[in-house]
Amino acid sequence: MPALKILQYPDPVLKEKSLEVTAVSEGLKDLIRDLVDTLRSGPGVGLAAPQVGILKRIIVVDVTSRAAGGGLIILINPVITASKGSKTVREGCLSIPEYTADVKRAEDVIVEGLDEEGGAVKIASTGLEAIALQHEIDHLDGVLFIDRIEGVKGLFKRKIRL
Ligand SMILES: [Zn+2]
Repeated sequence: MPALKILQYPDPVLKEKSLEVTAVSEGLKDLIRDLVDTLRSGPGVGLAAPQVGILKRIIVVDVTSRAAGGGLIILINPVITASKGSKTVREGCLSIPEYTADVKRAEDVIVEGLDEEGGAVKIASTGLEAIALQHEIDHLDGVLFIDRIEGVKGLFKRKIRL
C-alpha cells in the first residue's frame, strides 16, 4: 500500500478521541502495516491512527533515524502506566508541519498495550523514544503538542518545510 494521507491541522478529526481496539483482525493488521509504511516514507518518528483519519487507539513509533531506541514499536490501546522526571524538548508533528514547539513531558515512561498480534506488551522507554510515545498517545485523545505549550511564545515557525 502506498503511504496514507496525513491529516493536517486544523482538521477537526485530529481533535477527536479514538476508540479502544476490541479485536485484532486481519483488517487491523493491514492498517498497522500501512501506518508503518507511512511512518517510514516520511521524516517523522511516530504516527497515530487518527492522523490518517482512523479513530482507533493504535500508534507506531521508531526513533532510530534520530536517536537511540528499541526500533519499531507498534502499540494497540497504549496506556502510560508509570512516568518519571521531566524534560523539555523541541517537538514537531507530521500533522502540523509548519511549526515546532518546546514541550515539557516525562523523561521516562512505562507504556503497556497490545502488540500487532494482540499480545500484551510492556515497554520501558527513555529519551526521544519516551517523548515520541507520549506525543503519539496524546493523539489518541485528540491532544496536539500545540495544546501543551504556554502561549504562542513557545511556538516556532520552521525555516525549512518537511
Ligand atoms: Zn503528532
